[in-house]
Amino acid sequence: MAGYEQRYEVGPERPNLKLSGFFRDAFAEGEDGLPVFRMYIDGKWVEGSSREVFPVDTPIDESVVAYAQKGNSTDVNLAVAAAKVARPSIRNIAAIDRIEMFHECADLIERYKQDFVDVLVIEGGKTRRDAEGEVSAVAERMRMTMEDISKVTGEYRPGDWSADTRGKIAIVLREPVGTVGAIGPFNYPLFIPAAKVIPAILSGNTVVVKPSSETPLSQLLLARVFDEVGLPRGVLNVVTGPGSIGSKIAEHDDVGMISFTGSTEVGKEVARRAAGKSLHLELGGKAYAIVLEDADLPLAASKCVMGSLRNAGQRCDAVSAILVVESVADRFVEEVLRVIDGIRFGDPRLDGVDVGPLINRAAAERVNALVRDAVERGAKLLRGGRYNGCYHEPTVLDHVPRDARILWEETFGPVVTIARVRDEDDALSIVSRSRYGLDSCVFTNNFYRIWRIAKAVQAGSVTVNDFPRHGVGYFPFGGVKDSGLGREGIGYSIEEMMVLKTIVINLEPAKLGKAERPKKR
Ligand code: NAP
Repeated sequence: MAGYEQRYEVGPERPNLKLSGFFRDAFAEGEDGLPVFRMYIDGKWVEGSSREVFPVDTPIDESVVAYAQKGNSTDVNLAVAAAKVARPSIRNIAAIDRIEMFHECADLIERYKQDFVDVLVIEGGKTRRDAEGEVSAVAERMRMTMEDISKVTGEYRPGDWSADTRGKIAIVLREPVGTVGAIGPFNYPLFIPAAKVIPAILSGNTVVVKPSSETPLSQLLLARVFDEVGLPRGVLNVVTGPGSIGSKIAEHDDVGMISFTGSTEVGKEVARRAAGKSLHLELGGKAYAIVLEDADLPLAASKCVMGSLRNAGQRCDAVSAILVVESVADRFVEEVLRVIDGIRFGDPRLDGVDVGPLINRAAAERVNALVRDAVERGAKLLRGGRYNGCYHEPTVLDHVPRDARILWEETFGPVVTIARVRDEDDALSIVSRSRYGLDSCVFTNNFYRIWRIAKAVQAGSVTVNDFPRHGVGYFPFGGVKDSGLGREGIGYSIEEMMVLKTIVINLEPAKLGKAERPKKR
């Protein structure tokens, strides 16, 4: 444990947000010299109607680094009204030209990558590596829009296959829902809302985005990029402020679809508010990793540690508990400790740091309460276990008992949680009791066991011999049970943002319908 204290590193200077001149319209300088960000509504950079702002602080040292507008229901109404008026302006841009816009946006993101990375590191406490990965994923997602478009097709249905529709044909179109409300969480504040905005605009919708108030800045930077490439005003609107703004968007009559990513509890509230609208919910997760006797143990250990600690464990698809078969558990734990002892923990601005802070002090306290609960119930603390401010040490728990909260609740922190199981069936019985069903993974080299487990686990994804990760969203991604509804991914999100329209044409007046069957001779 002492090793962690030695490896904890603190950066040289106070976090300070310095942005390129390109982003100058997005903020003004406040009295204390810090940037006061505006909102982006109807193609303009505006203050909120209340003129109130809220501080944006960094988990690096909990200091205030900027201010953002505290939007309210009036601002939501303005944004939704602008989005409604703008609907024809995006639908009238040919899809191929929309794709070109995304490519230009990707170029700009790459040109201003450093600004995006700095904002993610400072507002979210991400390591530089995690932040760089997130920024690149957004640019790549934009460059892959041609793949999305392959799903935006229609159908021709000849009616003479049914007596009911004989003499008619139908053309089935996919049309945009109108305006999409996109509500995002703090943990991937650039990528997750972008993964909603891109398919929404690509499919001819307008969007109102509400980023997390922990991390509101990266979406404003993204809006600046869209502004630069000439996206018509009102097509994209970003309203910052408290969660109540999300509720207002969800219940607004002129919003046709809600795409929400966040906790299960808030997601259920959003679903109540959005009654009657199309709904996409990406909610909490508890990915179990099952490690069987025949697994490649060094591979399983390194993947499970990475899966548990990446982004400080603040991932819905993080490996959240490892169920290892007793007969190989000692060897597996040995490998886990070897990997974890090479992890660098500290100020995320420093090169080579693997694990930085959690989003805020409350998050570190919550994670530590889960660790303490497990230890009090008999788990063995092998590494870490302490926290300071927003920083929670990378922690390893072994022999986690069945009644420990951490075996069931979302951890969302840098904890490698190991529970020992008798066999495959014992592991599956734990997985099946979980309220969540987002992700899972299994380490084995036996095809039939892979197949049996993959079929038995109730989850949106089962990954074999790797930790769950979704990158740019090339494979479809989403949950069952309390983990959500619908699928995100290239080509998949876009389907959820469109509705079918059936155009029925009666061919009889022109005598173009199929002829009657000839009489029997
Ligand atoms: P959260 O607290 O649920 O917040 C998510 C968003 O909802 C934020 O923008 C929040 O705004 C807003 N919000 C809060 N109250 C609201 C309300 N009553 N009505 C409408 N919107 C409201 O989640 P978080 O802590 O930011 O993110 C972590 C959670 O997200 C975890 O549970 C994680 O598993 C989940 N997540 C899931 C996925 C997935 O793909 N399944 C991906 C990433 C994260 P404020 O910030 O202003 O409160």
